[in-house]
Amino acid sequence: MIFNVAQLLKAPVGTSYDVALDDEDKLDLQDVEGELAGPVAGQLRLHRTNQGVFASGTVTVPMRLTCTRCLKEFDTDITFPLHEEFYPTIDVVTGAPVATPDDPELSFPINRRHEIDTREAIRQNLLLAMPMRALHSEDCAGLCSQCGKDLNEGPCDCKPEVVDERFAALRELLNGASATEAD
Ligand SMILES: [Zn+2]
Ligand SMILES: [Zn+2]
Repeated sequence: MIFNVAQLLKAPVGTSYDVALDDEDKLDLQDVEGELAGPVAGQLRLHRTNQGVFASGTVTVPMRLTCTRCLKEFDTDITFPLHEEFYPTIDVVTGAPVATPDDPELSFPINRRHEIDTREAIRQNLLLAMPMRALHSEDCAGLCSQCGKDLNEGPCDCKPEVVDERFAALRELLNGASATEAD
């Protein structure tokens, strides 16, 4: 996931070539809810721009997630586009420092060895591509809120709860109020 772009930086603007993402460098999953479940895959086209190197392509990250309804762990591939520009920190010919763009948050550096490390760009784009609520299956039945049984494996013997738990407190309040009125 780290590529040396020294030759590309010396090439004319518009030059490009493709690189395959390898899995030799571990992806840092800081702030990502889940674990890596296999090797990161994908292909990026590296374009020489007038300022640096634009990397674009599609990345697939196999993830082990926890279902938010039944708490089962499951593996799924998260696939997302990646379009990020990388800027040199030193001039490839002279070795002189190069001023980076004003907003370092929006750009990624090409290091002093003329390498682009795509891992932080992948992590940030993975964060955006993660499902809001991970479900092992769209129709996951979840756990029984009373006995905790996994309802995907079959029904339990609990009486069905018709009212959402979040409204239970409200219901009690309302019941109390109407009881007082009846008095
Ligand atoms: Zn589930
Ligand atoms: Zn139950």
